[in-house]
Amino acid sequence: MTSRISFFEQVNTNFDRAAEMTDYPRGLLEQIKAINSVIHFTFPLKRDDGSIQVMHAWRAEHSHHMLPTKGGIRYAAMVNEDEIMALAALMTYKCAIVDVPFGGAKGGVKISAHEYSERELERITRRFTFELFKKNYIGPGLDVPAPDFATGSREMAWIADTYATLAPHDINALGCVTAKPVEQGGIHGRTEATGRGIFFALREVCSLGHDMRPLDLMPGLEGKRVVVQGLGNVGYHAAKYLEEEGGALIVGLVEYEGAISKPGGLHVEDVMAHRKETGSVLDFPGAENLEHRDAGLELDCDILIPAALENAITMENAPRVRAKIIAEAANGPVSAEASTYLHERGVMVVPDAYINAGGVTVSYFEWLKNLQHVRFGRMEKRFEEKASRQILNAIEHATGTSFSEAEISDFARGADEIDLVNSGLEETMVKAYHQIREVKQRHQGIDLRTASMISAIHKIATVYKHRGIFP
Ligand code: NAD
Repeated sequence: MTSRISFFEQVNTNFDRAAEMTDYPRGLLEQIKAINSVIHFTFPLKRDDGSIQVMHAWRAEHSHHMLPTKGGIRYAAMVNEDEIMALAALMTYKCAIVDVPFGGAKGGVKISAHEYSERELERITRRFTFELFKKNYIGPGLDVPAPDFATGSREMAWIADTYATLAPHDINALGCVTAKPVEQGGIHGRTEATGRGIFFALREVCSLGHDMRPLDLMPGLEGKRVVVQGLGNVGYHAAKYLEEEGGALIVGLVEYEGAISKPGGLHVEDVMAHRKETGSVLDFPGAENLEHRDAGLELDCDILIPAALENAITMENAPRVRAKIIAEAANGPVSAEASTYLHERGVMVVPDAYINAGGVTVSYFEWLKNLQHVRFGRMEKRFEEKASRQILNAIEHATGTSFSEAEISDFARGADEIDLVNSGLEETMVKAYHQIREVKQRHQGIDLRTASMISAIHKIATVYKHRGIFP
């Protein structure tokens, strides 16, 4: 029953399905779908023991309809050209869906990161950046990487430093990569942005009674039973906000070493502390160890959040999935075939290209911050505070009442960078969901993946319409 089409073919299948529902010329649709360029290169790593190992790396730039291109860099043993092209294409559609003015890109190095020391990882990252620089595949106006599987702010700091060293006259050098540490030109809220974006998206999805009724669910996140696969950057933050701010019950957690469940709800921070201490989520007090890792994906729950890697749900296990909503926190965790099957079974699959777009959205804010060379909120915070205090004073005079100092500091607080970032992220996720939902309602019977792809195609086609085709 399981088909063997590649990840890139899966993304293109989804594209074709959506493209059929538009009336753009075939040639334009082919241009939107085509991958602009992909490079495979090798470079040597001197290991700590003095031996030399050849590294295989890729960078794909899917679309130049907007520049720079943008997309993460992953370190994983199964990285290959097809996967990098698929992820680059997804980035193009993702940026369009959330109105981030970038083309899509993706990169990767074929390594299991945990088999390398920190010094080796630094040498790999810096040499990778150097190779991208030589090939014109990195720069604030060209191509801007970010983290992905097994990379984070530490690697982004090495990339930024390497680029700045190679391009000393580029005043915007810090904009060559995003998700840097805040002290090195990063932005508050980027680390948790993808997970927070998933929280904002699911809160919106679940708030609409009209959409929850066919799933036999009550509106709202409160009390929804959630299972999360992958407690890395994305999965951990999504689980944390859903539990702490949404009031959801985390009834199952799935990690590389195994899965645990607790129908009454797990406290994510406690499980993280237990995993840090013991090296495993298993044997968490009060929770049940599941027989095997992937049984976690089949737990009885309302929302399943696969946040590890692609193809977690295929036709092999889809018939046993019991969730009513699947939020594709990872990229490509549900195969195209399984996604169609689940949709026909009445399961709502909220697609990756929308739901995990919080990361690239806040990366966009970071890039803007790097280009404007000033922290968000720095110019207006005190001005806003003074203006609000004056209004409160006027209200006190007019009404004869007085506010406490605590009330005044609360009402008259000027926005910090994190407030503005979260506000921009929330606005982006909520607005994009309604755009997709509106497309879904216009085309009877389609799923959210097709609706989001139609939304992306419309936006990209509009760019080509205005710009024309060069020359
Ligand atoms: P990460 O490396 O921080 O975390 C991945 C986690 O998944 C790790 O804890 C790992 O142990 C776990 N894992 C791996 N294989 C597993 C398996 N078979 N079962 C259960 N757990 C498993 O990576 P991340 O940055 O959180 O990215 C995860 C996914 O989200 C990737 O698909 C990535 O492309 C996507 N994504 C990431 C971002 C971002 O901002 N980091 C943004 C959008 C999408």
